[in-house]
Amino acid sequence: MTKIITTALIYFTIAFTSVVAADLDKINKEFYKVETDNYSIATTVSKKFAYRIADHMEEIHKEYRRRLSNIFGEEDVEKFRVVVFDKQSNYLRALGDKVRGTAGIFMSNEQLLAGFVGKRPPSALFKTLYHEGFHQFLFHYIGPNCPIWLNEGLAQYFSEATWTGNGYRVGDIPPHRIYTLKREWENKQWMSLEKLLSLTNSEWMGMVEDQSPRSSLIYNQTWLFVHFLIDGANGKYRDNLEEYLEDIADDEDSYEAFTDHFSANFTALRNTLYKYLNTLEPSPKFMCMKNMGIISRLLKFFIEKGGADIDTLENIEDVHELFVNSGWKMQMKDGTTLTNRKEDAIEALFHCPLDKSDKEKSYKFRVHKDSGLPQITCPQHPGQARIISRFFNNKKTGTLDFTISEQLPTKH
Ligand SMILES: [Zn+2]
Repeated sequence: MTKIITTALIYFTIAFTSVVAADLDKINKEFYKVETDNYSIATTVSKKFAYRIADHMEEIHKEYRRRLSNIFGEEDVEKFRVVVFDKQSNYLRALGDKVRGTAGIFMSNEQLLAGFVGKRPPSALFKTLYHEGFHQFLFHYIGPNCPIWLNEGLAQYFSEATWTGNGYRVGDIPPHRIYTLKREWENKQWMSLEKLLSLTNSEWMGMVEDQSPRSSLIYNQTWLFVHFLIDGANGKYRDNLEEYLEDIADDEDSYEAFTDHFSANFTALRNTLYKYLNTLEPSPKFMCMKNMGIISRLLKFFIEKGGADIDTLENIEDVHELFVNSGWKMQMKDGTTLTNRKEDAIEALFHCPLDKSDKEKSYKFRVHKDSGLPQITCPQHPGQARIISRFFNNKKTGTLDFTISEQLPTKH
């Protein structure tokens, strides 16, 4: 279950549930259907969108298999079912009020993956589908006994997949995860691995529903753990991970299977994870998104409070001028402060780490014709993917807002 926590814009997720059932007949709309090798897709959005979902699911499916190839061999299986609603109201009508606050869900009893687009950018929906799609995939092969830490850790690992123009790349590293994990380590907040490994589904869901501070920590810790098991030490532990998953599929005790295939020295393992964390560098894509977030926050501030006139901004140079020509101070999420005097730091904001040209600014700025509001784009990403910050008037709060998303090319 991918949970929407709007204030923090974090998608919390819960593995899967058997208590929700879908009744598609309650929706008085046409379902557009597409069948692919592995998926059966239905959506109320459009035929074109059904093909687009199908493309994404087929590609991410390859990646699920590639990373854990020994256990998820090629075999004829029933198709995985996916349904995507246009609006949240239809999602709620078909699935019931229990799923309120979630953006997507895998229903193990029906083996059905469901989500909705709503007002979110499509990339946010796809991220949800990669995540929930992995739960669906794993459930098919492993059954209901996969421990929650591993199920969620793996699903998060795959939800950070990046389109390269030629398939997906997984293992990307968002800076906020590194920053949060380091801070929580310093505050001695990390959960012991013994505890993490033995968490039950209901204990996990309890923490998420309470929105306790530990809930974001368990997601980050399990993400790191899985990242280490798949990519750490040049993939040395991947075989152990696969053997461990096979034992779980054979109904062996997951805790004992863990100590068999990895280690029973949890303190040493925890220290190894922390050491691994310190070797990780944030991925360029996420650094670009971070830059764009800071530029957008500043621009929002100047338009709303600083008296900046959108009509006088023609290109990204103008935005840069605006930032350096008046005094301001901005508190950053990592605890540092950015001011108009830190020219090098401001310069760096306008540069995407993927931009290999010698241009000073990687981003493009324009005022959208219809909305009259700014839009900032980074065209530097592989496979014609783009990072876009779109401004909009938030009707609920009455203020200017923006969303940052990844726009992926599509065959259809
Ligand atoms: Zn970029």
